[in-house]
Amino acid sequence: MKDRDNGFSLEMPKVGIIKGVLAKDIEIVGGKVVNLRTCSRPYSNIYSVAQLRTIKRVTERYGSGKVHLSPRHNLEIPEVKQKELDNALKELYIAGLFPGGAGASVRNIFTCPDWCSKSMRPVQELGKVVSTYFGDRDMPNKVTISFAGCYNCCSRPHNTDIGIIAVGRLGVSGGRCKNDCLECIKVCPFGAMEKKDGHIKINDGCTDCGKCIDACDDDILRLKETGFRVFIGGKEGSTVMFGKEYSGFVDDFEVMEIIERVLNNYQKKVALREGSRKKKERLGEVVERLGLDSFMS
Ligand code: SF4
Ligand code: SF4
Ligand code: SF4
Repeated sequence: MKDRDNGFSLEMPKVGIIKGVLAKDIEIVGGKVVNLRTCSRPYSNIYSVAQLRTIKRVTERYGSGKVHLSPRHNLEIPEVKQKELDNALKELYIAGLFPGGAGASVRNIFTCPDWCSKSMRPVQELGKVVSTYFGDRDMPNKVTISFAGCYNCCSRPHNTDIGIIAVGRLGVSGGRCKNDCLECIKVCPFGAMEKKDGHIKINDGCTDCGKCIDACDDDILRLKETGFRVFIGGKEGSTVMFGKEYSGFVDDFEVMEIIERVLNNYQKKVALREGSRKKKERLGEVVERLGLDSFMS
């Protein structure tokens, strides 16, 4: 579906040449029915009403009338009749929906909705750019990338191969804080604030989560700028790993550079899983074996 040299392209996928057709994007079950996993491209977990109407029509016409929403927000249409597969794919394709989101590749990019009231900054546009450049790229094992709009981390960035969290750098006005409410200290989840001689002080434990800013009614605390923190090597599954923080505060371009480096280094440094003759390590396992600094060098 994607031409590596010339960017994103929209040629019609054909059964038999779609990457890893069997038991991946399109799953043959019992030789008679297929489970068709689809998502919009280049973007990920947002579907238009027109696309949802197409999904409804396809599952009613060619499938069992059911749709499953996968954990990474792919839509799965189960039990599509094999003889109707070409027709189903064609209708999905016209609506901008493609098989994908399975196998040893960069999976569906997951982002928070920009309209969440807690969002520190929009993340969907950057998610779309990441999807365009890195989506579906072949990798040694699956790679998940998630963006969280704030430190509440609803999109589980800590248990994702590459987890990106929107954060906000805090500014503290030089004046004395006359109000003794101490709300900022109470809401800080990281114990990163204290009040000394009437002044609010922030220590190294500050993650730029921004929670204290909302708590302050006195204009002492303000949002200076927004950016991201990046975590590498988390995963879910039979064993759970938490990503390690790679960067401090970074901007959009640095996020792209970090993702590029992580994916390239993963391809170069991966080994077979212990005891396996063909299964390659997940990204987090490579990071665990080499250490994050050595992995990123
Ligand atoms: S992580 Fe923050 S922005 Fe994203 S859905 Fe949760 S509360 Fe909203
Ligand atoms: S929340 Fe604002 S007003 Fe209250 S102690 Fe903190 S800085 Fe001062
Ligand atoms: S930005 Fe978050 S971590 Fe930093 S001081 Fe405020 S509440 Fe604590």
